[in-house]
Amino acid sequence: MRKKSYLTTTLPYVNAAPHIGFALELVQADAAARYLRHEECEVFLNTGTDEHGVKIYRNAVAEGKDPQTYVDENAAHFKKLLTALNIDLQSGRFIRTTDPAHAAAAQEFWRRCDAAGDIYKAKYRVKYCSGCELEKTDSELENGHCPLHPALAIEEREEENYFFKFSRYQERLLELYAKYQDFVLPEFRLNEIRRFVEGGLSDFSISRLKEKMPWGVSVPEDEG
Ligand SMILES: [Zn+2]
Repeated sequence: MRKKSYLTTTLPYVNAAPHIGFALELVQADAAARYLRHEECEVFLNTGTDEHGVKIYRNAVAEGKDPQTYVDENAAHFKKLLTALNIDLQSGRFIRTTDPAHAAAAQEFWRRCDAAGDIYKAKYRVKYCSGCELEKTDSELENGHCPLHPALAIEEREEENYFFKFSRYQERLLELYAKYQDFVLPEFRLNEIRRFVEGGLSDFSISRLKEKMPWGVSVPEDEG
């Protein structure tokens, strides 16, 4: 049987023009995929755009555009890169998180996590930087501001959200790393992730209230 390989780049947010760093990433991924194909390996190369998140939604609103129109326009710039850089996606895909197939897969992933007992609902209070699109702990803030976005105010949020039981996977992940020493490469990254997991895993929020953030993939069986 032929060896199979799956390769993916990050999926950049479409709220800005493509960054030179992403062009480099695409070229590196394409070079790796071409090499593997040359070695008679069956390669699937995945790339695309992340078109959700509060920053994209706010930018669309600020420009007076419907979010779908806004992401369609911006995703086109990223797609042009494929031609400009001669990226070979014959056995691969440019996925947009607004593609119906992506939404269906995301919802199926949610259903399977839920069926496995990995999802629960809880009250949630958090500090949030809209620049990073990330929650921030107090230790990450400097004088109450995000060091990367000192001009933006940190938002305080409380809402009922769904959580993923990440804490449940600490022991199983450590067993996995012990059993398969080449699961994460290079080795110093394996050591880094092992130390991170040993430090304890916290459950994290995986949803938003639609009234606050209407631009996203709906949670299955919960319209709110
Ligand atoms: Zn920030």
